[in-house]
Amino acid sequence: MKYTAGIDLGGTIIKIGLNGGGKLLGTVRIPADSAAGLGPALDRIAGAVDSLAAEFHADRITGVALAFPGIVDVKAGRAAGTNAKYCDAPSLDLAAWTERHWKGARFAIDNDARMAAVGEWKAGAGAGCDNMVMMTIGTGIGTGAVVDGRLIYGRNWCAGALGGHFTVDFRGRKCTCGNTGCVEALASSYFLPQIIAAVPGLDDEFRNDPENRNFKALFGQYVSGSRNAAAVVEYCMDVWSAAVIDYVHAYDPEIVVLGGGIMKSADIIIPYIDRKVNASAFRPEGAGDVRIVAAALGDDAAIIGADYYFE
Ligand SMILES: [Zn+2]
Repeated sequence: MKYTAGIDLGGTIIKIGLNGGGKLLGTVRIPADSAAGLGPALDRIAGAVDSLAAEFHADRITGVALAFPGIVDVKAGRAAGTNAKYCDAPSLDLAAWTERHWKGARFAIDNDARMAAVGEWKAGAGAGCDNMVMMTIGTGIGTGAVVDGRLIYGRNWCAGALGGHFTVDFRGRKCTCGNTGCVEALASSYFLPQIIAAVPGLDDEFRNDPENRNFKALFGQYVSGSRNAAAVVEYCMDVWSAAVIDYVHAYDPEIVVLGGGIMKSADIIIPYIDRKVNASAFRPEGAGDVRIVAAALGDDAAIIGADYYFE
C-alpha cells in the first residue's frame, strides 16, 4: 500500500494528514507560529507524521507533500516567495529533511491553494472536470487552475495561484503583496477591520464593534436580517463575484469551486455569486452557465490533494 503524508501549513495551525491506498486515513493538527518560521516546526511536523503512521500501521511513507502559503518553485522543491508567513522556508532544504526522516520517500511542495485545487479536482467537487478553478477564501484568498486537464504553473510558478491578487479596483486598498486593489485586500478576513471601516452607511455601533470583524459573525447577523451585516457581506460577495468573473475570463473553466471556512454559508454565497457571474461573464453563445459550487472536501482538500503528487 502507498502511504503519503500531506502537510498543510496554515498561519496558526499546521494540519497533517496520512493518505493510504488513495484514502485519507487520519489527520492531526499542531499549533503553528508562522511568524517564527518553518524551521522551528519541522521536528514537531515529523513527529506528527510518525505518530499518524504508527496509528495506522503504515510501514513506510512513500511521499511527503507540503502545502505552502506562498509562491513555490515546484521543480526545485523550494519555497520561492513568502508573504509574512514561514519566511525562512526558501533557505530550507526540505527534500533533504524528508530523506533524513523517511528514507527513500519522495518529496513535493506546492502552493497551498493550488494543492487544495488538486484535491477538489481529483477527489472532490471538480472530479471529472478538465477545466476548473478553485478559489479558497479565508484569512487570505488563494486559487488554483486546471486548464485542458493540466494544473497550470507558468514561468515563475505563479499561474493560476495568484487569483487573490487579481486587481478588482485599481483605486482600491493597498494589499500586503504590494499591489493595489487586490481581491484579497478588498474582501478577505485579514482586511475585515479596514473593510468594515470603509463600507458606507453603517451604524457607528456596528462599525466599532470588534465582534463583527469575522465572516462567521457577519453571515450570522446577515441571516438574522441585520442591515449593517448585509451591507458588508454583499460588498464582499460582489468583490468575490468580480474575481470569479476574472477567473472565468482568464481560464475558461466549466466549474468554479469555492472553498474556505465561509462555505458554512454556502447556501447564501453560492447562489449570489452564481447569479452575478452568469449574468455578467463574457461567454460564447451556447456555452451555458459556468457551474459555481461549494468545495466538497472542506479543509482536508490540500492534504487529500497531496496524495496525487505521487502518482
Ligand atoms: Zn495582493
